[in-house]
Amino acid sequence: MSNESLANLLREERRFAPPADLAANANVTSEAYEQAAADRLGFWAEQARRLSWSTEPTETLDWTNPPFAKWFADGKLNVAYNCVDRHVEAGNGDRVAIHFEGEPGDTRSITYAQLQDEVSKAANALIELGVRTGDRVAIYLPMIPEAVISMLACARIGAPHSLVFGGFSADALATRINDADARVIITADGGYRRGKPSALKPAVDEALTRPGTENVRSVLVVRRTGQSLEEAGGVWTEGRDVWWHDVVDRQSEQHTPEAFDAEHPLFILYTSGTTGKPKGILHTTGGYLTQVAYTHSAVFDLKPETDVFWCTADVGWVTGHSYIVYGPLANGATEVLYEGTPDTPHQGRWWELVQKYGVTIFYTAPTAIRACMKWGDDIPAKFDLSSLRILGSVGEPINPEAWIWYRKHIGADATPVVDTWWQTETGGIMISPLPGVTATKPGSAQIAVPGICATVIDDEAKDVPNGGGGYLVLTEPWPAMLRTIWGDDQRYRDTYWSRFEGKYFAGDGAKKDDDGDIWLLGRVDDVMLVSGHNISTTEVESALVSHPKVAEAAVVGAADPQTTQSIVAFVILRGTANAEDEGLVAELRAHVAKALGPIAKPKRIMTVAELPKTRSGKIMRRLLRDVAENRELGDVTTLTDSSVMDLIQTKLPSASTED
Ligand code: ATP
Ligand code: MG
Repeated sequence: MSNESLANLLREERRFAPPADLAANANVTSEAYEQAAADRLGFWAEQARRLSWSTEPTETLDWTNPPFAKWFADGKLNVAYNCVDRHVEAGNGDRVAIHFEGEPGDTRSITYAQLQDEVSKAANALIELGVRTGDRVAIYLPMIPEAVISMLACARIGAPHSLVFGGFSADALATRINDADARVIITADGGYRRGKPSALKPAVDEALTRPGTENVRSVLVVRRTGQSLEEAGGVWTEGRDVWWHDVVDRQSEQHTPEAFDAEHPLFILYTSGTTGKPKGILHTTGGYLTQVAYTHSAVFDLKPETDVFWCTADVGWVTGHSYIVYGPLANGATEVLYEGTPDTPHQGRWWELVQKYGVTIFYTAPTAIRACMKWGDDIPAKFDLSSLRILGSVGEPINPEAWIWYRKHIGADATPVVDTWWQTETGGIMISPLPGVTATKPGSAQIAVPGICATVIDDEAKDVPNGGGGYLVLTEPWPAMLRTIWGDDQRYRDTYWSRFEGKYFAGDGAKKDDDGDIWLLGRVDDVMLVSGHNISTTEVESALVSHPKVAEAAVVGAADPQTTQSIVAFVILRGTANAEDEGLVAELRAHVAKALGPIAKPKRIMTVAELPKTRSGKIMRRLLRDVAENRELGDVTTLTDSSVMDLIQTKLPSASTED
């Protein structure tokens, strides 16, 4: 894509300067970039001092055996102490850590002092269940406080956790239990989802009948819904299953946290499976906590005394790990934890909660923003959102249209929007504007945060000039980087470090604009080759979504005998548009041609009601490509709803084709 087309896409190229008051009081100023550029390791060593170490590290980075990094290797610390106890010791025990809101409307506010008691009791319970330092604990819970408490309890005793998203099936759970060789599972009878109890324990029971799960000794079960286990299709296994309220509640509130090596494993987490079979990503302690604490403070400008932070991700995703649990709590934040879906019982539920808790910083995903756009501007308009001062986005490229909508309708046309690029593998935010420093550009993640080295290179591993596109790479190790793929060092090397020597290749395509700002263009595996031109799925999708009748779009390249690949687009229309409208396809094709040039015109456009997404809300283009090329579908274990694919498959033969 030429640079011109990018400008076209933005039509009115706009930048938004940081609000003056925010800039004047920002946690991080532009000096941080200079400082980190002059002495990157010194910069991170300084950030590590945000944490309380029982043994201060004297080494910053050991990179003598790349790609296996050690950060702060001779330091020792306890993550739970850093996220909880030290805030109580500092006199902030009465500060609310978590405002929990259940989907049915039940609420619970937990102060740091209460969190300390709960985490200590859970840690004591895990020890009673035989969990020892180094044992893996699988956590399969809804978005309830016990999820956070369990994670911190594991961290407190040095037992790496492996969260499995509560929406996953017994199969997905069994695979992950097996891969991590978990010894204990923490689950619940169920959670509330779309106004109804949704059972979880029966999936655990089923998973534990699968081979490879024999080492699970105990299942600790939180009572959340009170639904009968038998009616939900589960079984209670005496000797294995224990209730949280029987075992945790009677424990002592005293537990002395032990200090662990900075490189002690903290958790294993599987990627969301957008590009293939999920990978078990291993994160460790000191470097991870340093980077998530730093980025949470820098990117969201967190003021722990006054801000109310809300990250809407599920704790089962890396965003939940880093920006619900470890980053915010390490920083002593007050945050909202919401159990349910954004449209239960009404499509304004999120905005109602922003108003209720006075949320000041809000962090969500483009898929959710696009859903809110589809539901209509009048919904957020009914609520007082004036407490908001910073908005964040993560998970997929955010198209300029959605970015502008987010700022205008949620952020009163005034709050900075920070588009944060990172991955399960990177552990923390890597590329993002800083709200008090950067003039933001709709649709661009812009620049690496201080201390992070990211660039865009071509096939020969040369930096592309401004205006050029290529592969997004990280050129220096960073504190929160993955240490390996669990149990598979070779796959770790092959997947991330083999394509370009000495560089971490993220799998994403990107370009630099004339100012050198980075724009994410989607997975390189998704880049389309049409008559000798590389065309990014993101750009065509953005062009489609900029049409007033389109709410969402997914684009793939399908094999084509004439043009190598041809562009196939799947679009969801906005509420008012009519799918039967004969002229619509021609109109959309013309619209794309105008924005990006005739070569980028989709050959086929299909209107669909839903798109295949991962459970974390990302579009699974590889499945659409399978459909477009009449192949059997690849790994669907992380797909939200497999009926979506059936519907799309039935549409295909009658798809509208032109030229
Ligand atoms: P898998 O690796 O199994 O295919 P996944 O990559 O979807 O799964 P995650 O680690 O949850 O799993 O997602 C990271 C990816 O999400 C990034 O590599 C990138 O493609 C995309 N992403 C995240 N944030 C952004 C962003 N702000 N802009 C553009 N893309 C983003
Ligand atoms: Mg990935």
